Amino acid sequence: MFSIGIDLGGTNTTAGIVDAAGRLVAQNRVKTNRLSDSQGLARNMADQVSDLLAQSGLSQSDIQSVGIGSPGLIDSRLGMVVKASNLNLDHAPLRDNLASQLGLPVYLANDADAAAYGEFSAGCGKLYDSFVTITLGTGVGSGVILDGKIMTGHFPGGGELGHTVIQAGGYACNCGRHGCWEEYSSATALVREARKSALARPGSLLYALCQGNLEQMSARIPFTAARQGDDAALRLLDWYTQYLAVGIANVIWIFQPQAIALGGGISREGEFLLDMLRPKVAYELNVSVETLSTDLVTCELGNDAGIIGAAMLFKMPV
Ligand SMILES: [Zn+2]
Repeated sequence: MFSIGIDLGGTNTTAGIVDAAGRLVAQNRVKTNRLSDSQGLARNMADQVSDLLAQSGLSQSDIQSVGIGSPGLIDSRLGMVVKASNLNLDHAPLRDNLASQLGLPVYLANDADAAAYGEFSAGCGKLYDSFVTITLGTGVGSGVILDGKIMTGHFPGGGELGHTVIQAGGYACNCGRHGCWEEYSSATALVREARKSALARPGSLLYALCQGNLEQMSARIPFTAARQGDDAALRLLDWYTQYLAVGIANVIWIFQPQAIALGGGISREGEFLLDMLRPKVAYELNVSVETLSTDLVTCELGNDAGIIGAAMLFKMPV
């Protein structure tokens, strides 16, 4: 048997067929009609699923269930998109709308939670029961899986670790708070600080790699410069990984997960990043790197994690 995962985005909607082992065997992508209501989106998704089945030579009887990963505040129990700012959805019963279109069981989760569940089911989280993903991108996204279940809290929005405050009175966040973790550990925050560092050290490789235009600064440039021993870049990454480590230590104190997996573009720096991070996390927890009980790893599935996780939602214990 197969299942289908749908990654609903503000720009594109990607659907994929996933086999029992969590492998993505076919996928297609369409533009999301952002102005559609829940019924309209469900109709579009049902059409996309039909196309996907036709393109892969499977029929609906080969599919046991469909899962949706949606942005925004989700109430998984009610199958409802409570609010999604990029979409025209407000207390929208998307799960039941799609289920009645398809005649198949449908599951709904927040997109970051679905991606975490994908890594948990078929990626870097396979070996664990309690596992947290931290995605370092435009913001800091997260998914928390405890004893095999996505933790959502009683009200929608639980497990949004990026909006926990790490520096009281710090940088303003668009959530309305000051000093949120994502203002320090997102790729956006790294680029912001990298520009400041480069400006203060015009002789640095960090500056040179921007070719005279600090608008060209990326989250990758500091790592490229640091790998070549550039002092400005090394100091910047020392600052960056310090905040990242404080946030990770907080996550460990709250959940004591077996592993924390970093995702997003910055996680592609792999062991170079983790090697800077582990001693700082251990220091925060007052243990040695060797006795740190939570594994720090990087995500494996990239952009496919959301589709795979959505497809695997049927496996989650209720
Ligand atoms: Zn915030």
